[in-house]
Amino acid sequence: MVRGVTMVQDSELEPTFTRVGESTTARYTRIPDGEMLPATAYRVIHDESMLDGNARLNLATFVGTWMDEYADKLYRDAFDKNMIDKDEYPATAAIEEYCWRILGDLWNAPDRDDVIGTSTIGSSEACMLGGLALKRRWQHARREAGASTEKPNLIMSSAVQVCWEKFCNYFDVEMRFIPTSDEHPLMDGTGLEDVVDENTIGVVVLMGVTYTGAYEPVAKVAAKLDEIQAKTGLDIPIHVDGASGAMVAPFLQPDLEWDFRVQRVQSINTSGHKYGLVYPGVGWVVWRSVAALPDDLVFRVSYLGGSMPTFALNFSRPGAQVLLQYYRFIRLGRAGYTAIQQATQDVARFLAHEIGALEPYELLTDGSDIPVFAWRLKAGHTDKWTLYHLSERLRIKGWLVPAYPLSGDQSDQTVMRIVCRNGLSRDLAEDLLRDVREETDFLDALDSPMPHPGLGPTFHH
Ligand SMILES: *Cc1c(COP(=O)(O)O)cnc(C)c1O
Repeated sequence: MVRGVTMVQDSELEPTFTRVGESTTARYTRIPDGEMLPATAYRVIHDESMLDGNARLNLATFVGTWMDEYADKLYRDAFDKNMIDKDEYPATAAIEEYCWRILGDLWNAPDRDDVIGTSTIGSSEACMLGGLALKRRWQHARREAGASTEKPNLIMSSAVQVCWEKFCNYFDVEMRFIPTSDEHPLMDGTGLEDVVDENTIGVVVLMGVTYTGAYEPVAKVAAKLDEIQAKTGLDIPIHVDGASGAMVAPFLQPDLEWDFRVQRVQSINTSGHKYGLVYPGVGWVVWRSVAALPDDLVFRVSYLGGSMPTFALNFSRPGAQVLLQYYRFIRLGRAGYTAIQQATQDVARFLAHEIGALEPYELLTDGSDIPVFAWRLKAGHTDKWTLYHLSERLRIKGWLVPAYPLSGDQSDQTVMRIVCRNGLSRDLAEDLLRDVREETDFLDALDSPMPHPGLGPTFHH
């Protein structure tokens, strides 16, 4: 006993970086036999994670990397709260409801009191819930009509985010793609008549295509579905995947009709942790009316004496992010969100304009939908280097900017994308631009072709 105490004191006295575990290798793929000092464990993990890129210079991700000190304080106050413990944390549960009601209102629900929604861990879970509601509604209608429910299908652009492939795979729904092409880089309703049928549970429309940052025209897709209904009687609902754009359009394009103003839009999801401006770990899905969410998907769990309705894939999940979302809503208000999204878009448009003006490049998008833009090398500019090489060169300077192929019929095209977020200041943008120019000049000055590049930053699609 005394010996143990002495040993701890001894190891506490040892200078940092020379303690057992710090001076030897400490990579465990099996639980170690004994303990180590908390300071040592902290040092080991802190130092190992230093090799991660700098989150603020990560221009590949849509996900929030900065909040203010009051948000950090609120986070610290609440990181022990489990969102599912609604009976124990009724205040957090109430705040969750304020948030989805705020979103229903921001998205112009026809009857503010009739919306229903939930928080999730992110848009992926929110999309699963939106998709499940579509599928269940279709099943009910088919059963009522005495028709088969064997072969549901869901229509979407080939540029969808991977969560929709997961949804279709996990929940046995056939994916029907509308391939993007140079003539139709966005799903605009063209060709829908060839893919929908009585087994179509819905159409997913993207408000913010991850590849380019462009909005798919929700109203045009809806008008096409109206035409199809007039001809065939098929009444096909829309789910809007607004992971990024549903927190941008209400502030920057308030007159664009993409939300519940479009009759056919039954549900909308967004990522609180993207342009909702919260740290990773919160998403939202809202249905235009209680009737749009089949009641038999909602569980009423009796929990420590309370009864709570839930519709979620997860059980336990952090409650703190929901409080952070509410903090953003009331701290910023409509004016604050508008100011932030506008400033971010100004940076995106400035960068897009300057990069588009460089001789080798042409823009696919210019940041005027969400503050995201993509560009490609002009055909015939060079066969010595590609955008993968530019990505690698920028990484040397600390910038994480992904290069990746487009989808559908455009998958032979390589593009590069920058996601501007709150925190990418005009000054940082100027530095980035300087580095893009320098590295482009460097690559253009090469006498011989660059060797095949290594793996660049992950493309978040
Ligand atoms: C990011 C994204 C998702 C997935 O969102 P997570 O919050 O990361 O789960 C889904 N759809 C689109 C269009 C996205 O941009």
